[in-house]
Amino acid sequence: MLIDTYGRIATDLRVSLTDRCNLRCTYCMPEEGLEWLGKSALLSDDEIVRLIRIAVTGLGVTDIRFTGGEPLLRPGLTGIVERCAALEPRPRMSLTTNGIGLGRTAAALKAAGLDRVNVSLDTLRPEVFKTLTRRGRHADVLAGLAAARASGLTPVKVNAVLMPGLNGDEAPDLLAWAVENDYELRFIEQMPLDAQHGWKRDGMIAAGDILDSLRTRFTLTPEGREARGAAPAERWIVDGGPHRVGVIASVTRPFCAACDRTRLTADGQIRSCLFATEETDLRAALRSGAPDEEIGRIWRRAMWGKKAGSGLDDPAFLQPERPMSAIGG
Ligand code: SAM
Ligand code: SF4
Repeated sequence: MLIDTYGRIATDLRVSLTDRCNLRCTYCMPEEGLEWLGKSALLSDDEIVRLIRIAVTGLGVTDIRFTGGEPLLRPGLTGIVERCAALEPRPRMSLTTNGIGLGRTAAALKAAGLDRVNVSLDTLRPEVFKTLTRRGRHADVLAGLAAARASGLTPVKVNAVLMPGLNGDEAPDLLAWAVENDYELRFIEQMPLDAQHGWKRDGMIAAGDILDSLRTRFTLTPEGREARGAAPAERWIVDGGPHRVGVIASVTRPFCAACDRTRLTADGQIRSCLFATEETDLRAALRSGAPDEEIGRIWRRAMWGKKAGSGLDDPAFLQPERPMSAIGG
């Protein structure tokens, strides 16, 4: 098991498949100038599948989420999913994507064994999308979402980050749209993980503001603690159900005490936390011929050292060097 000194057990593995992306969301990446990892630095498909096998068969991991950068840009994605689906025990597998290209790939991913997707969409307004992501691909995301639902990659969840002055007023519109289209919407508070290090606490829209804004149009009933488990999203039942809306309040209502995550970057580094400033190199062990047991030992040791919390509420908080796109969100 991947247990830490606070007794938390990591069963949810986030695997970043690439640091590259076809969007440039302002809260994540700079417009230009971010250097990509070189090909030899990236784990190969075989290396990724081997590490996932070790995690699933030897370390108690039950859930795999593929992410990035944009994971649909990884040419071997479908093959990786297929090989992981053949593992015993079979992990649950989901994908976090900006949705571009999902129109073409959703059916094949479902056939390969992917269970679910989370698609990131912050706005219903194409022109705001263009400002927020610096690319005019709004229609492609909507097509990707529809394809995911049609292919049975359900429940389709939608992640939205609200930014003041851009889409900060869109929470109720987004929820009405999600309910109508049967997507489960989750708002994510903006975190200090942008490449430009421009995040400011007083410049972000907090969970409380999001809920206030939703309540102007909807009745929200808390789903209750039990339903939440280790899930980062607190959920509310919308207008008596059946639809739900979630808020991931990493900044204002941190959930570190229940965290069940371990992370693997595209270049083979283990991170015990999104906000960790230290990483543990599994790639070097892999490439020096270490057996599975040794890799499992290194992974367990890395997780044992997991800190109690993200440190976000500490005035001495230091933002990780890597931006979200290179950690794997
Ligand atoms: N490219 C894919 C996507 O956008 O879904 C996967 C990677 S992205 C880093 C994963 C999630 O992190 C997205 O939902 C995105 O909105 C979110 N994200 C990125 N930067 C963030 C930040 N600074 N604060 C909060 N969420 C962020
Ligand atoms: Fe790309 Fe996702 Fe970051 Fe947006 S949030 S720039 S889509 S990695």
